Amino acid sequence: MPRFLVSQTAKHIGERVRIQGWVNTRRAHGKILFIDLRDGSGILQVVFAPLNKEVYDLAEQLRPEWVVEIVGQIVKRPEKMVNPKIETGMVEMSAESLKVLAKAETLPFSIDGDGMDINEEIRMEYRYLDLRRERLKNNLIVRHKVIKFIRDFLDKEDFIEIETPMLTKSTPEGSRDFLVPSRLEKGKFYALPQSPQQYKQLLMAGGLEKYFQIARCFRDEDSRGDRQSEHTQLDLEISFVEREDVLELTERLFIKLVEVLFPSKKIQDIPFPRIPYGEAIKKYNSDKPDLKKDKNDPNLLAFCWVIDFPFFEKTPEGGWTFVHNPFSAPKPEFIKDLLNKKNIEKIVANQYDIVLNGQELASGGIRNHTPETLKAVFEIMGYKKEEIKEKFGHMLDAFSFGTPPHGGIAPGIDRIVSILQNEPNIREVIAFPKTGDGRDFMMHAPSEVSKKQLEELGIKISVPKTSKTNITEKAKIIKKKKIAKK
Ligand code: ASP
Repeated sequence: MPRFLVSQTAKHIGERVRIQGWVNTRRAHGKILFIDLRDGSGILQVVFAPLNKEVYDLAEQLRPEWVVEIVGQIVKRPEKMVNPKIETGMVEMSAESLKVLAKAETLPFSIDGDGMDINEEIRMEYRYLDLRRERLKNNLIVRHKVIKFIRDFLDKEDFIEIETPMLTKSTPEGSRDFLVPSRLEKGKFYALPQSPQQYKQLLMAGGLEKYFQIARCFRDEDSRGDRQSEHTQLDLEISFVEREDVLELTERLFIKLVEVLFPSKKIQDIPFPRIPYGEAIKKYNSDKPDLKKDKNDPNLLAFCWVIDFPFFEKTPEGGWTFVHNPFSAPKPEFIKDLLNKKNIEKIVANQYDIVLNGQELASGGIRNHTPETLKAVFEIMGYKKEEIKEKFGHMLDAFSFGTPPHGGIAPGIDRIVSILQNEPNIREVIAFPKTGDGRDFMMHAPSEVSKKQLEELGIKISVPKTSKTNITEKAKIIKKKKIAKK
């Protein structure tokens, strides 16, 4: 007998079917036992009558979250028992047989409701249980739909999705790298990508004119509010484009995405307003202005572009560093100054951000595609000749073999989904998020490794153990305290 999803049952009144799922609730009404059975598609009421004693006795033992298989007949509910709130509210199953597939301990927290009142570290430790919550499951479904929409949209625009390496070399995105020690070449390290920036530009050198990737990026940042040490972005790059082309494509993508997947939302201004960085700072004191006219309207989406960022800013040591991305080109009228290393503070980058309701969704830019301009950027930042060659020689080489002008953008998927789902933070739309300080309470990561592993890597730990490195212990203490409080 094939498995039926509970959502299908309403259309099969009178039939005998087999369903599988979790016991959502169990209640007794006189001698009759009711189970609400939950599967991925919804909830169905199942009725156990004492007549069928063996099955009834087993049903009496059922507890919430046990996994069961039930065979029975789908029948219409009596008129006054109809529940209009659920899809299967017109019907119920009259159980004939019951099999317990897995038992469950009492859960550490309730999975009804939105879960916002439960301590987040406990939710994260038992994330697989938290994911049974309707809200989180729905967020992951929407996230899947957003990603699928993006893939289909870009496919129609002739983009191809290309994977780039995870084990790579440091690429500056203004953050710290996560390093992975090499066993075969002791003392050397890979870096996890802060973004696929260099690879995507090298793909342009490789003649792949329209690239995208749903890319995981790793940034070792200090605990900073609503950030994750790894995040997912739609990374894209196009050859033979100017700023206008990238802005137009991105805008079209977002407008269509909202129209198709979030029809109850309204985009405040189309085309998206463009605000030069200087004006944003002057007028809104922020480079992420929240332009929403009605701040209380949860369905209003105020997109805007912030453009014309300064290229360089002073370092505390008095040198220069990039504001956004060292691979950006200056706006055409500043190329001369860049090459001559003059009026550095006035050079404007051909760089743009997209902001939604006061949150940065994406950064992008038109890139330097000649070796001279890229070299000039690193020289301004005080890199020595050898250092430029060692770190970015491959880029300079690539640009010396005929690389077309190119540019791109990288909108953050976690951020987009959290805003469109009206979630207060990105952790709510990530299946297995970490805490703000990069800890995974479920897997207890980061964690110590064995002496043997360290020896193989040629690594000696010189830092004394702190309470923070001993994350497993700390997590256990927190868990005990939190559970005691409940
Ligand atoms: N690489 C940039 C980032 O990850 C985005 C881009 O310029 O395409 O922020």
